[in-house]
Amino acid sequence: MRRILLTNDDGYSSEGIQALADSLESLAEIWVVAPRTEQSAVSHSLTLDRPLRMERLGERRYAVDGTPTDCVALGIASLLGGPPPDLVVSGINSGANMGVDVHYSGTVAAAFEGVILGCPALAVSQIRGEGFSFQTAAAVSRRLAEWILESGLPADTLLNVNVPPSTPRGVKLTRLGVRRYTEGIIEQVDPRGKQVFWIGGGEPVWDEIPGTDFHEVAAGYVSVTPLHLDMTDVRFLEELRAAQPAWIATEPGGEPGR
Ligand code: MN
Repeated sequence: MRRILLTNDDGYSSEGIQALADSLESLAEIWVVAPRTEQSAVSHSLTLDRPLRMERLGERRYAVDGTPTDCVALGIASLLGGPPPDLVVSGINSGANMGVDVHYSGTVAAAFEGVILGCPALAVSQIRGEGFSFQTAAAVSRRLAEWILESGLPADTLLNVNVPPSTPRGVKLTRLGVRRYTEGIIEQVDPRGKQVFWIGGGEPVWDEIPGTDFHEVAAGYVSVTPLHLDMTDVRFLEELRAAQPAWIATEPGGEPGR
Protein backbone atom coordinates (compact mmCIF):
# COMPACT_ATOMS: atom_id res chain seq x y z
CA MET A 1 0.00 0.00 0.00
CA ARG A 2 1.44 3.36 -1.01
CA ARG A 3 1.64 5.99 1.68
CA ILE A 4 1.45 9.78 1.48
CA LEU A 5 2.50 12.03 4.35
CA LEU A 6 0.61 15.31 4.57
CA THR A 7 1.62 18.37 6.51
CA ASN A 8 1.20 22.14 6.30
CA ASP A 9 2.05 25.40 8.02
CA ASP A 10 -1.49 26.65 8.61
CA GLY A 11 -2.04 24.13 11.38
CA TYR A 12 -3.74 20.78 11.82
CA SER A 13 -7.27 22.16 11.92
CA SER A 14 -6.98 24.26 8.75
CA GLU A 15 -9.46 23.62 5.98
CA GLY A 16 -6.72 23.28 3.33
CA ILE A 17 -5.11 20.16 4.73
CA GLN A 18 -8.48 18.48 5.14
CA ALA A 19 -9.37 19.19 1.51
CA LEU A 20 -5.99 17.74 0.54
CA ALA A 21 -6.51 14.58 2.61
CA ASP A 22 -9.92 14.04 1.03
CA SER A 23 -8.63 14.52 -2.51
CA LEU A 24 -5.68 12.11 -2.13
CA GLU A 25 -7.47 9.40 -0.16
CA SER A 26 -8.11 7.14 -3.13
CA LEU A 27 -4.44 7.25 -4.22
CA ALA A 28 -2.73 5.98 -1.08
CA GLU A 29 -2.89 5.55 2.66
CA ILE A 30 -2.94 9.10 4.02
CA TRP A 31 -0.96 10.10 7.10
CA VAL A 32 -1.47 13.58 8.49
CA VAL A 33 1.24 14.97 10.76
CA ALA A 34 0.68 18.70 11.07
CA PRO A 35 1.51 21.54 13.46
CA ARG A 36 -0.95 22.05 16.31
CA THR A 37 -0.96 25.81 15.71
CA GLU A 38 -0.36 28.03 12.69
CA GLN A 39 3.31 28.18 11.64
CA SER A 40 3.17 30.33 8.53
CA ALA A 41 6.51 31.94 7.56
CA VAL A 42 8.57 29.82 9.97
CA SER A 43 10.60 28.62 6.98
CA HIS A 44 12.74 25.52 7.63
CA SER A 45 13.08 25.91 11.39
CA LEU A 46 13.57 22.83 13.51
CA THR A 47 12.79 22.68 17.23
CA LEU A 48 15.94 21.75 19.11
CA ASP A 49 15.52 23.45 22.49
CA ARG A 50 12.64 21.38 23.87
CA PRO A 51 10.96 18.02 23.31
CA LEU A 52 8.08 17.73 20.85
CA ARG A 53 4.67 16.56 21.97
CA MET A 54 2.12 15.04 19.68
CA GLU A 55 -1.54 14.37 20.01
CA ARG A 56 -3.09 11.41 18.19
CA LEU A 57 -6.39 12.71 16.85
CA GLY A 58 -7.44 9.65 14.86
CA GLU A 59 -6.10 6.78 12.83
CA ARG A 60 -2.92 8.11 11.11
CA ARG A 61 -3.76 11.65 12.27
CA TYR A 62 -1.35 13.60 14.48
CA ALA A 63 -1.00 17.17 15.67
CA VAL A 64 2.49 18.15 16.83
CA ASP A 65 3.46 21.21 18.89
CA GLY A 66 6.25 22.09 16.48
CA THR A 67 7.07 23.44 13.05
CA PRO A 68 6.18 21.96 9.65
CA THR A 69 9.76 20.67 9.37
CA ASP A 70 9.44 19.04 12.81
CA CYS A 71 6.27 17.31 11.60
CA VAL A 72 7.90 15.81 8.52
CA ALA A 73 11.01 14.75 10.45
CA LEU A 74 8.95 13.18 13.23
CA GLY A 75 6.49 11.62 10.83
CA ILE A 76 9.10 9.92 8.68
CA ALA A 77 11.53 8.95 11.44
CA SER A 78 9.02 7.80 13.99
CA LEU A 79 5.26 7.95 13.52
CA LEU A 80 4.86 6.26 10.12
CA GLY A 81 7.28 3.43 10.84
CA GLY A 82 8.82 1.32 8.08
CA PRO A 83 10.21 2.78 4.85
CA PRO A 84 9.78 6.47 4.00
CA PRO A 85 6.43 7.44 2.48
CA ASP A 86 6.04 7.42 -1.31
CA LEU A 87 5.25 11.12 -1.33
CA VAL A 88 5.19 14.12 0.99
CA VAL A 89 2.58 16.79 0.25
CA SER A 90 2.56 20.10 2.08
CA GLY A 91 -0.52 22.30 2.02
CA ILE A 92 -2.94 23.31 0.87
CA ASN A 93 -1.64 26.66 2.04
CA SER A 94 -4.11 29.49 2.30
CA GLY A 95 -2.38 32.08 0.12
CA ALA A 96 0.42 32.16 -2.44
CA ASN A 97 3.99 30.90 -2.04
CA MET A 98 5.75 32.38 -5.06
CA GLY A 99 9.08 33.98 -5.94
CA VAL A 100 11.37 34.81 -3.02
CA ASP A 101 8.52 34.06 -0.63
CA VAL A 102 9.44 30.39 -0.94
CA HIS A 103 12.36 31.21 1.38
CA TYR A 104 9.99 32.24 4.18
CA SER A 105 7.38 29.60 3.55
CA GLY A 106 6.79 26.86 6.10
CA THR A 107 4.76 25.06 3.43
CA VAL A 108 7.65 24.85 0.98
CA ALA A 109 10.20 24.08 3.73
CA ALA A 110 8.16 21.10 4.89
CA ALA A 111 8.21 19.72 1.35
CA PHE A 112 11.98 20.28 1.23
CA GLU A 113 12.32 18.35 4.48
CA GLY A 114 10.63 15.45 2.70
CA VAL A 115 13.15 15.83 -0.14
CA ILE A 116 16.07 15.86 2.32
CA LEU A 117 14.75 12.63 3.82
CA GLY A 118 14.58 11.03 0.39
CA CYS A 119 10.93 11.41 -0.60
CA PRO A 120 9.45 13.09 -3.65
CA ALA A 121 7.50 16.12 -2.50
CA LEU A 122 4.86 18.60 -3.55
CA ALA A 123 4.03 21.98 -1.99
CA VAL A 124 0.58 23.35 -2.82
CA SER A 125 -0.80 26.83 -2.25
CA GLN A 126 -4.26 28.16 -3.05
CA ILE A 127 -4.18 31.85 -3.83
CA ARG A 128 -6.94 33.88 -2.21
CA GLY A 129 -9.28 36.06 -4.24
CA GLU A 130 -12.56 36.09 -6.14
CA GLY A 131 -13.84 32.49 -6.45
CA PHE A 132 -11.48 31.12 -3.76
CA SER A 133 -11.98 27.46 -2.89
CA PHE A 134 -9.55 24.85 -1.57
CA GLN A 135 -11.29 22.39 -3.90
CA THR A 136 -9.54 24.00 -6.88
CA ALA A 137 -6.08 23.26 -5.46
CA ALA A 138 -7.26 19.88 -4.14
CA ALA A 139 -8.16 18.73 -7.66
CA VAL A 140 -4.79 19.93 -9.02
CA SER A 141 -2.97 18.23 -6.13
CA ARG A 142 -4.60 14.93 -6.93
CA ARG A 143 -3.54 14.99 -10.57
CA LEU A 144 0.03 15.93 -9.70
CA ALA A 145 0.31 13.44 -6.83
CA GLU A 146 -0.93 10.68 -9.10
CA TRP A 147 1.67 11.62 -11.73
CA ILE A 148 4.53 11.78 -9.20
CA LEU A 149 3.59 8.40 -7.73
CA GLU A 150 3.72 7.04 -11.27
CA SER A 151 6.77 8.88 -12.68
CA GLY A 152 8.76 10.00 -9.63
CA LEU A 153 10.82 13.20 -9.39
CA PRO A 154 14.57 13.74 -9.74
CA ALA A 155 16.54 13.58 -6.48
CA ASP A 156 16.63 16.80 -4.41
CA THR A 157 13.71 18.28 -6.34
CA LEU A 158 10.16 19.22 -5.40
CA LEU A 159 7.26 20.79 -7.24
CA ASN A 160 5.95 24.08 -5.90
CA VAL A 161 2.38 24.61 -7.04
CA ASN A 162 0.34 27.81 -6.88
CA VAL A 163 -3.31 27.69 -7.87
CA PRO A 164 -5.28 30.80 -8.91
CA PRO A 165 -8.50 31.57 -7.08
CA SER A 166 -10.94 31.07 -9.96
CA THR A 167 -11.20 28.05 -12.25
CA PRO A 168 -7.73 27.65 -13.83
CA ARG A 169 -7.28 28.12 -17.59
CA GLY A 170 -4.67 25.37 -17.55
CA VAL A 171 -1.27 24.54 -16.10
CA LYS A 172 2.02 26.34 -16.86
CA LEU A 173 5.56 25.32 -15.97
CA THR A 174 7.27 28.33 -14.44
CA ARG A 175 10.33 29.70 -12.70
CA LEU A 176 10.27 31.75 -9.50
CA GLY A 177 9.14 35.34 -9.97
CA VAL A 178 10.61 38.52 -8.55
CA ARG A 179 8.79 40.60 -5.98
CA ARG A 180 9.63 44.25 -6.40
CA TYR A 181 8.81 45.54 -2.94
CA THR A 182 6.23 45.43 -0.20
CA GLU A 183 5.20 48.17 2.13
CA GLY A 184 7.98 47.67 4.62
CA ILE A 185 7.32 47.75 8.31
CA ILE A 186 4.30 49.42 9.86
CA GLU A 187 5.12 51.39 12.97
CA GLN A 188 2.40 51.94 15.54
CA VAL A 189 1.97 52.84 19.18
CA ASP A 190 0.32 50.27 21.44
CA PRO A 191 -2.42 51.19 23.98
CA ARG A 192 0.27 51.57 26.65
CA GLY A 193 2.21 54.09 24.61
CA LYS A 194 5.01 51.73 23.51
CA GLN A 195 6.28 51.69 19.94
CA VAL A 196 5.46 48.46 18.04
CA PHE A 197 6.25 47.19 14.54
CA TRP A 198 4.30 44.99 12.12
CA ILE A 199 6.22 43.16 9.41
CA GLY A 200 4.64 42.37 6.05
CA GLY A 201 1.90 44.94 5.76
CA GLY A 202 0.93 45.62 2.18
CA GLU A 203 0.14 43.57 -0.88
CA PRO A 204 3.20 42.22 -2.66
CA VAL A 205 4.09 43.85 -5.99
CA TRP A 206 5.59 41.61 -8.65
CA ASP A 207 7.67 42.21 -11.73
CA GLU A 208 5.76 41.24 -14.85
CA ILE A 209 8.21 38.63 -16.15
CA PRO A 210 6.71 36.09 -18.58
CA GLY A 211 7.33 32.49 -17.56
CA THR A 212 7.37 33.23 -13.83
CA ASP A 213 4.99 31.84 -11.25
CA PHE A 214 3.44 35.22 -10.53
CA HIS A 215 2.93 36.06 -14.18
CA GLU A 216 1.14 32.82 -15.06
CA VAL A 217 -0.99 32.79 -11.94
CA ALA A 218 -2.05 36.38 -12.66
CA ALA A 219 -3.07 35.20 -16.15
CA GLY A 220 -5.29 32.54 -14.56
CA TYR A 221 -3.06 29.46 -14.85
CA VAL A 222 -1.87 26.96 -12.27
CA SER A 223 1.88 27.51 -11.79
CA VAL A 224 4.17 24.50 -11.31
CA THR A 225 7.78 25.38 -10.41
CA PRO A 226 10.41 22.68 -9.89
CA LEU A 227 12.64 23.73 -6.98
CA HIS A 228 16.04 22.24 -6.20
CA LEU A 229 17.49 21.73 -2.74
CA ASP A 230 21.04 22.66 -3.82
CA MET A 231 21.21 26.45 -3.90
CA THR A 232 24.73 26.52 -5.37
CA ASP A 233 24.94 29.17 -8.07
CA VAL A 234 26.65 26.96 -10.65
CA ARG A 235 26.92 29.69 -13.26
CA PHE A 236 28.72 32.09 -10.92
CA LEU A 237 30.84 29.27 -9.52
CA GLU A 238 32.12 28.59 -13.02
CA GLU A 239 32.71 32.30 -13.60
CA LEU A 240 34.69 32.54 -10.36
CA ARG A 241 36.75 29.49 -11.23
CA ALA A 242 37.55 31.02 -14.59
CA ALA A 243 38.26 34.49 -13.21
CA GLN A 244 40.40 33.34 -10.23
CA PRO A 245 39.92 36.55 -8.20
CA ALA A 246 42.81 37.63 -6.00
CA TRP A 247 41.19 36.48 -2.74
CA ILE A 248 41.41 32.87 -3.86
CA ALA A 249 45.20 33.03 -4.20
CA THR A 250 45.70 35.15 -1.09
CA GLU A 251 43.71 33.03 1.33
CA PRO A 252 45.69 32.95 4.63
CA GLY A 253 48.20 30.13 4.64
CA GLY A 254 46.41 28.51 1.72
CA GLU A 255 47.44 27.46 -1.66
CA PRO A 256 45.56 28.89 -4.59
CA GLY A 257 42.13 27.28 -4.83
CA ARG A 258 41.03 25.19 -7.73
MN1 MN B 1 0.50 29.25 5.72
